[in-house]
Amino acid sequence: MIRIAIQSKGRLYEESVNLLKNIGIEVDAPKRKLLSRSLTFPIEALYLRDDDIPQVVAGGTATLGIVGQNEVAECGADVSILCPLGFGACRLSLAVPKAECYDGLAWFKGRRIATSYPNILRRFLAEKQIEATVEVITGSVEIAPAVGIADAIFDIVSSGSTLIANGLKEVETVFESEAVLIARKNLNQEEQDLIDELLFRMESETLSRGKKYLLMNLPRASMDEAIRILPAMRSPTVMPLASENWCSLHSVIDAADLWTKVRQLKAIGAEGILVMDVDKIIL
Ligand code: ATP
Ligand code: MG
Repeated sequence: MIRIAIQSKGRLYEESVNLLKNIGIEVDAPKRKLLSRSLTFPIEALYLRDDDIPQVVAGGTATLGIVGQNEVAECGADVSILCPLGFGACRLSLAVPKAECYDGLAWFKGRRIATSYPNILRRFLAEKQIEATVEVITGSVEIAPAVGIADAIFDIVSSGSTLIANGLKEVETVFESEAVLIARKNLNQEEQDLIDELLFRMESETLSRGKKYLLMNLPRASMDEAIRILPAMRSPTVMPLASENWCSLHSVIDAADLWTKVRQLKAIGAEGILVMDVDKIIL
């Protein structure tokens, strides 16, 4: 059996549990207990604050963890990053008061920068040879310039609206992050086998993200044209219909292209187009 550390509440909680559920692993909500054994896979969820997850995995209390890459980079825990998970996207950026004339990184020389991510910031400043003072604050970093604690901030940004609301502007993106699956180093064979199975299932999830399954009736004469419009995984599936001059065509497409493709297919005579969600793609 393996143990996976996930955030007990907060921004990553819901998607972490959903990801497990989508690959056939149901675990109880953290409200009831700190540890929850899945009945459908030899795995146990350990609910923690996100800051603690990298260390708990590095130390061996959990074999796996789901956490923001930003937390892994900040604490420098010795873990393997197995794969990005496609949620929890954000970036760590430097921001300055919006009235400042910002003219490049040299602006930060001799300034005070407030952050909850001192290690990532210090590494960045050292690499760019900028000498600045790092003021460590654990919460509400964005108010630091207004109250005079710092001249600038280094913080998590996703939409940027918090910065704007606090009279700040983002001037440098330092670190791009998303939720990742991490693992302890030096796994035994049983752990490795269970992780391989999880990764295999997760890949089918990742591949199906943003995909739609399309099926339609099409005049036989338009089939070549339709195949050009629909580059399927291998090639579209074409099936005969009772009426000889018609066929049924099935294909998987990117959801982003849906309406463009539908217009093109209608123009060559497609009818009865069905659009369906794709749950898993197993290659
Ligand atoms: P905990 O109580 O577990 O310590 P927290 O308050 O430190 O929670 P959350 O705000 O829930 O953490 O964020 C968890 C992770 O979500 C972040 O470390 C980051 O990777 C990601 N994230 C994505 N978007 C944002 C955002 N707009 N602000 C903060 N974190 C974000
Ligand atoms: Mg935290």
